[in-house]
Amino acid sequence: MRALLLPGPGRPLEPVERPLPVPGPGEVRVRVQACGVCGSDLFLQAGGFGTDKLPRVPGHEAAGVVDATGPGVAGWAPGDQAALYYIDAAPDGPWSRAGRENLDPELTRMGVDVDGAFAEYVVRPAHTLVRPPAPVDPAVLAVLTDAVATPYHALRLARLQPGETLLVIGIGGIGSNAVQLGRHLGAHVVAASRGAEKLALAERLGASAVVATGDDPVARLREACDGPDVVLQCAGSAALDEAAIAVAGPGGRVVLVGASQERFATRSVDLIWRELSVIGSRGFTRRDVAEVIDLHLAGAIATDHLVGAVRPLEQGNAALEDLRAGRVLRSVLVP
Ligand SMILES: [Zn+2]
Repeated sequence: MRALLLPGPGRPLEPVERPLPVPGPGEVRVRVQACGVCGSDLFLQAGGFGTDKLPRVPGHEAAGVVDATGPGVAGWAPGDQAALYYIDAAPDGPWSRAGRENLDPELTRMGVDVDGAFAEYVVRPAHTLVRPPAPVDPAVLAVLTDAVATPYHALRLARLQPGETLLVIGIGGIGSNAVQLGRHLGAHVVAASRGAEKLALAERLGASAVVATGDDPVARLREACDGPDVVLQCAGSAALDEAAIAVAGPGGRVVLVGASQERFATRSVDLIWRELSVIGSRGFTRRDVAEVIDLHLAGAIATDHLVGAVRPLEQGNAALEDLRAGRVLRSVLVP
């Protein structure tokens, strides 16, 4: 089979030929229909997950069709469409039982810890597959598993309520979908970004106000919304982490989604006086994937802004470059 290998940090993807993988007990071989390319792939390429993860076949947001099943697999048959949940955590372990398998210290991630779906086929544990209740366009199904599931998880942690004000900082692949999910959940959504194009997208996806952050983000954000109940910080910047905490309203929940290695500063009084919660949101769970698929099938989720750049597998490097240059929110590779 054909696959794309990331041979080492800072290196381009290389096309490779691999033997067709054989599913073991409890495993399923999936013919990959589509796989999204996102910032995590750039992070992997930069050695961000650790240089010991490379060489690796990337690809963690994928959809496909079951091609073969290993011994002991029940409930899946060749021809079934599946969304691939990228995390493999022991299904009987305490974290999976609590519905928080994304936090299992023993988890492995497809496309990071084990080879992923920048390939014609991938073998996965059957318990990581999610069955859509009706057929879904493969590129759409692929991006639902990350670009939509990540902000969905973050809004779930924030306990966003109808009628509340949600401020979304950073309108990229994650933030744009936070806007439409927040709107769907009945919130008044304010979108903040540097780019006018991103703000236009946020308006189209349901933001009732937009703000260009610029040089003095706290002042600009305060002008745009008065003490938001929930702030989703998707921009991966310590300055904006601080801005998110500064502008949140009394009882506010600040959810950090965009990862940054930089330190940010706050004071206990800043949190105590307003009873702020600062919450980290890591990825998403299998349940999040199933629920965003349902939302999509119910017509509640726009995906055209995520699947505008579909490329053949061989153009993986061009897809990474498009993302790095900010020309697209997502690319989708089709083997
Ligand atoms: Zn991703």
